[in-house]
Amino acid sequence: MSVMGTTFLESVLQTLKRSIELGGYPQEVYEILSRPQRIITVNIPVRMDNGKIQVFTGYRVQHNNALGPYKGGIRFHPEVMLDEVIALATVMTLKNALNGLPYGGGKGAIAVDPKKLSRRELEELSRGYARALAPFIGPETDIPAPDVGTNPQIMAWMVDEYSKIAGRNVPGVFTAKPAVLWGNPVREYSTGFGVAVWAREAAKKLWGGIEGKTVAVQGFGNVGYWAAYWLTKMGARVVAVSDIGGGVYNPNGIDLTAAKAVTDKTGTVANYDSTGTRKITNEELLELPVDILVPAAVENVIHRGNANNIKAKLIVEGANGPTTADAEEILHKKGVWILPDLAANAGGVVVSYLEWVENLQWYFWTEEETRNRLEAILMNTFNRVMTRWNKLGPANVTIREAAYVEAVDRIYNAMKVRGWI
Ligand code: NAD
Repeated sequence: MSVMGTTFLESVLQTLKRSIELGGYPQEVYEILSRPQRIITVNIPVRMDNGKIQVFTGYRVQHNNALGPYKGGIRFHPEVMLDEVIALATVMTLKNALNGLPYGGGKGAIAVDPKKLSRRELEELSRGYARALAPFIGPETDIPAPDVGTNPQIMAWMVDEYSKIAGRNVPGVFTAKPAVLWGNPVREYSTGFGVAVWAREAAKKLWGGIEGKTVAVQGFGNVGYWAAYWLTKMGARVVAVSDIGGGVYNPNGIDLTAAKAVTDKTGTVANYDSTGTRKITNEELLELPVDILVPAAVENVIHRGNANNIKAKLIVEGANGPTTADAEEILHKKGVWILPDLAANAGGVVVSYLEWVENLQWYFWTEEETRNRLEAILMNTFNRVMTRWNKLGPANVTIREAAYVEAVDRIYNAMKVRGWI
């Protein structure tokens, strides 16, 4: 990763260190937050369809629980590395604190390509992971959810396995479950919705509104598709989308329903075609002449090698960690606004929180009630981050640093009254 500059974990720790200095908090806060409280490694044997046993390695990183139970997703990805899971868990602690949720942060992962497993193998692996972690998780201890490579069905298997061990139904131990198994239906589109809300609010400040602004979205999965959907609904024009198979560009706008149908049928949005549409690479997408860029796929895609070529004035981080620290420095100097992951993609965990509250109460809100609560929480965070940024001085401080300071403030105060510091 060094060819592109800093790694994700290095970027997170660098921003954390500077934010703790900017906010005037004791150095001890960095000593505590730069390391997870607990790292659990599990090895899960699965009887594969060919009759042989294969052992999969998984992790759960429990970063900090000063503000409440650990909370964060589980990633199934072939190239999972512990450093990356630690970085993601650290961002979760900050994200949950920033949004006023009663949670600490955690993250889990299994090194596996879920597309290469049969449905039965995937179920066995998911249940095995829940069994291995059962002593360490729970509705008041650690509440996982989906991330890249996992989905509501996997959460349903995990809840079922955990509930069998507990001897009772425990809906609140995982969030983003299918609606029929106590899930909240807003969860499906909540992260993309949050990305769009943050983009809309920033666009109001930059240009007076989002109507007619052009957008390029990298990643056409859960976050990317729904971000594109809501941005279009809010009046922006999505002109480019991509996924791991490549991308498409049409200055007149992309028909998202048609693009989604092509993706579902052929496996990639790169096969979408219509008058005026041309194929582009993921690298080209990032450098298109658009107003708004939404990286919603993977880490480190905006690095010091391409930062100078980016033309968008507003970058909204749907993905976790898409911008390296050195790229951010370059872009900040150019006056580009980067709405950081812990703020812009928090819609998912906010609805996970609402789902968890429903599960603890066995009482459920309507879709509209949930969405209104979600939007109110996001708007509150947006206003606090902007106020903090203006106070710290936008010329020398990034929006990410302002968001980190806002988050650290809550964590620091919780640790202080607990007597940890
Ligand atoms: P997903 O698996 O549904 O979709 C990922 C998309 O990215 C797919 O379209 C895939 O083809 C594409 N992709 C993968 N590798 C790529 C590459 N190298 N170049 C270009 N495209 C690539 O995952 P998701 O849930 O949409 O998550 C995307 C990002 O958003 C991740 O960083 C995740 O941590 C973050 N995130 C997700 C949620 C959520 O609620 N799903 C919440 C917060 C943050």
